[in-house]
Amino acid sequence: MAKIDSSLFSSDSKINADAIFEAYGDCPDCGGKLKIRYANKSAFLGCISYPNCHYKKSLTDTAITTVKVMVDTPCPQCDKTLAIKKGRYGLFIGCVDFPSCEFLTSIKQQTDTHVNCPQCHTGHLLEKTNKFGKKFYSCDTYPSCKFVLNDKPVACTCPDCHSPIMIEYSVTQFSCVKPTCNGVINRENKPSS
Ligand SMILES: [Zn+2]
Ligand SMILES: [Zn+2]
Ligand SMILES: [Zn+2]
Ligand SMILES: [Zn+2]
Repeated sequence: MAKIDSSLFSSDSKINADAIFEAYGDCPDCGGKLKIRYANKSAFLGCISYPNCHYKKSLTDTAITTVKVMVDTPCPQCDKTLAIKKGRYGLFIGCVDFPSCEFLTSIKQQTDTHVNCPQCHTGHLLEKTNKFGKKFYSCDTYPSCKFVLNDKPVACTCPDCHSPIMIEYSVTQFSCVKPTCNGVINRENKPSS
């Protein structure tokens, strides 16, 4: 089996925090992060703000399942194998030796749409998935450009204002990316670019 592309995961601490959310969710008592804790040599899920917050949950209730073992992809923490797992809120990458090894990281869920950013004209729009599984599109030069769209952008010139980008408005139509413009085009009439 092919090695997983190492650019798929990252040791970035912020991304890691996303993976922790995807795996366990937040503490229902205080909204803090959850982590693996140990008492009498048994592992359970506890709140990071212990002893201020006493929330805890059995690991068998976390509903974490292994989707696919990433053969030949060693865990950076223990050298065993990494696996794609499904947690409470989404997919993440974890270690087969969980919970003995707590390594977890996010799967970067983004694809280049190859549509140029209409705001900064230098970036591309990337398709990303937020932690609730909803797709959105943002500029790859973020944070210098904060352009973001909820609908899929298409490189197609608006017949009304000549903006180079339209969005997938319905199954049959594209509409102008500019909220102030009413330009609409039927999908069959999309000029091939
Ligand atoms: Zn808590
Ligand atoms: Zn490990
Ligand atoms: Zn931009
Ligand atoms: Zn327009």
